[in-house]
Order: sequence, then structure tokens, then C-alpha cells
Amino acid sequence: MIDFELTSKDQEIIRLAHEQAEIARRYGDYYDKHEDELPPDQFPEAEGRPNPIVLAEETGDGSSGPRILHSLVMHEIYGGGLALHRARWGLGNTVLQTVATPDQFEKWKNHTIAIAITEPGAGSDPADIRTTATFDRETGEWILNGEKIFISQAQSADAAMVFSRFIAPDGSRGMTTFLVEKGTAGFTVGPQLKKLGIRSHDTCNLLFEDCRIPEFNHIKGDFKSTMSVFNDSRPMVGAMALGVARAALDFTRQKLAERGIEIDYRGGMRSRCAIADRFLRLEAAYEAALLTVMRSKWLEQRDVAPKVEASIAKAAGGKAARRITQGCIELLGPEALSEDHRLERCFRDGRIFDIYEGAGEIQRLIIARAILDYTARELR
Ligand SMILES: Cc1cc2nc3c(=O)[nH]c(=O)nc-3n(C[C@H](O)[C@H](O)[C@H](O)COP(=O)(O)OP(=O)(O)OC[C@H]3O[C@@H](n4cnc5c(N)ncnc54)[C@H](O)[C@@H]3O)c2cc1C
Repeated sequence: MIDFELTSKDQEIIRLAHEQAEIARRYGDYYDKHEDELPPDQFPEAEGRPNPIVLAEETGDGSSGPRILHSLVMHEIYGGGLALHRARWGLGNTVLQTVATPDQFEKWKNHTIAIAITEPGAGSDPADIRTTATFDRETGEWILNGEKIFISQAQSADAAMVFSRFIAPDGSRGMTTFLVEKGTAGFTVGPQLKKLGIRSHDTCNLLFEDCRIPEFNHIKGDFKSTMSVFNDSRPMVGAMALGVARAALDFTRQKLAERGIEIDYRGGMRSRCAIADRFLRLEAAYEAALLTVMRSKWLEQRDVAPKVEASIAKAAGGKAARRITQGCIELLGPEALSEDHRLERCFRDGRIFDIYEGAGEIQRLIIARAILDYTARELR
């Protein structure tokens, strides 16, 4: 039986996350306008408060399941636009956990590790990656050259998990990953990028110029396993997208109420005004997308690798965030475009979730291949 029921312990952690998101919101507004400043590791109000992300990760008995809970906590936090506590882990940590050797994992398990795949000319399709590592027989090191763009946590992370081509000593070639630590000669992090949305998030380009890396830093997992980390992160991105959408809906409901328009769930269509009806349709889109996230995470908890379900959750969450934030602006009218209005930022922040970790179009391709039984080569 599918059961998404949350225990009272889980509900308490989600309530904490919601409360912290409300506090963090005003910091989010500040960093939205000061993109060059990196938010601190934690804000003053975080002092003495438990970190709901850590609570969700460490929850044991009495929880409906850590994976669903973690997603719902991220959903709340993204509703505020910024966390009171900075994230300890990046997607590079998941790669480390999934494919590194026990010695490699032990060495870097407490580092924050960004993931660096995208390049100018290589975004949706990693086959276009041009960053290349060649092996120096004399020193036993790899020499990395290339550029990565739009890398999250670039400045705040301790290291980057870099996706690269390699040319091995025996002449063999392929795709692989290297863990490159901050401070390695030839590794430069660029300035903060100016973005449409999520402006408070740390996003920079990375440059590798004759960057020498010890053989120990070669993370040799097969490429398919490495890419499987997205099955875990994509539903999470769907949950974050829906956190922004929820914030937009809550704000719109409040503004409509101030204008005397209450959303009544009991009456039928004939008893509702057009605005209330449109609001309910947006809310239904939110609910439907959130169920796809929960289903994907529920499968994970049952040790079923949810590849297609992960893409469905990511595609549904990203699309719903775009539709809902735009729909809410339409309901409130021109006033909603003011910078002083929470909705304006939700609209800008909501756009990214349909771009990173595989754009909506790419998720729909993955889903279509699974339904129609095509290979990636046959349907692209
Ligand atoms: C704020 C932010 C943070 C990011 N963080 C990271 C990070 O931490 N690490 C990282 O590696 N990258 C990161 N990225 C990059 C992001 O993952 C890429 O932007 C994304 O994968 C899309 O790649 P692209 O920009 O090169 O677009 P392209 O791949 O060029 O795609 C352009 C458009 O074409 C569509 N398209 C592409 N191929 C197809 C196809 N076969 N069929 C139909 N449509 C298609 C896409 O959906 C998209 O709409 C980040 C980006 C942003 C904006």
C-alpha cells in the first residue's frame, strides 16, 4: 500500500523548517540585492536552533522515512528563499558516497563538494564535455584543463567533483571524475554570477589551467553509476520548486483575502468567482506535482531505484513552479510585479528548477524513452 502519512515527529521537523524559512526570508531579500556577498555559514537566529536538514537526515524510529522527510524539509526551506544554516553537502558528496573507494570516502567525507559538469557548449548532454585530463607518467599526476560554468556552491565548497574526459597512459579515452580541492595550483574560482533568480545562491565559473591532480583524487566509478546520483537529487529539486510555488500561493491567498476574495473549498464551481476558481486550479497543480515527488522518494525508501519517477517529479515540480508563480502574478495584477512584492522574487526564483539538474525537456525525453522503450540513441 502507498502511504505518505507523516508521523507527528516528522510534522514537528517540518514545522521547524517552516518557522526557520519565515525568519530567513528577510535575509533572502537582502542577499537577492547583494549578489556579490556570500551569506554566512549560519545567521544569528540559527544559534541554538536545531538544523531541520540534519534532523531529517538523522531521524530514526518514529519517522515515516528520512527521504520523504528530507524533501519536505527542503520544500519548506526554499519557500523562504534561503536557509538559516548553510548546506553541509553538495551533489559532489553524493557522487563520493556512491562511487569512491572507502579510502577516498574517508578522506573527504566531511568536505562540502560541489558538482562541476556544465561547460560552455556542454549542458544537457555530458557527451559534449571538453575538459580533459591527461596523465603525466613522470610524476604520476593528472593534468586537468578546461572550464566549468554556473557551478553551485563554487565559492563555499571545499572541493569540486569535476566531470572530465581522460586520456590514460595506454592511450585509452573516456569520461571520468576527479576531486579537485580548493587551493590546488591551476584551479581558479570566478566571481559570483549575476542571475535572474536564486541570486543569494553561490554560483560561479571554474577554470582549470594545467591543474595537477594526484592519482588518489581520481574517482573511478563507472559513468552510469555516477550519473545515477541524479535519481536522488531530481525529486528533491522538484520539492524545492514546489516550496517556491507554495510561498507564491500562500502570498496570493493572503492578498486576495485582503481584497475580500476568500478561497472556499466547499462550494462547487457555480458558487465561485473566476479568480477563486483559477487559484484552486493552481493549487491542484501544486498538489499533483508534490505527490509525484513523494512517490519517487517513497520508492527510494523501499530500495526501488526510481529513475523515471525521479524525472517525473523533477519535470512536474519545475513546470508547476513556472505555471503557479506566473499564474499568481496574473491573479494579483500589475502590483505583483513590484520588487517590494514577494511574488516578484518567487517568479524569478521559480525559473531555475526547470533548468538545472536536467531541464524539463530532458526529463520529458527520459520519460518518453521509458514509456516507448527507446534507447537514448534512438530518441534524442
Ligand atoms: C543557477 C544555476 C546553478 C547551476 N548549478 C550547476 C552545478 O552546480 N553544476 C553543474 O554542472 N551545472 C550547474 N548549472 C548548469 C545547468 O545544469 C545547465 O544550465 C543545464 O543543464 C542546461 O544546460 P545548458 O544551459 O548548457 O543548456 P542547453 O543544454 O544548451 O539547453 C538549452 C535548451 O535546449 C533544450 N534542449 C537541450 N537538448 C535538448 C534535446 N535533446 N531535446 C529537446 N530540448 C533540448 C534544453 O532543455 C534547454 O531548454 C547551473 C545553472 C544555473 C542557472
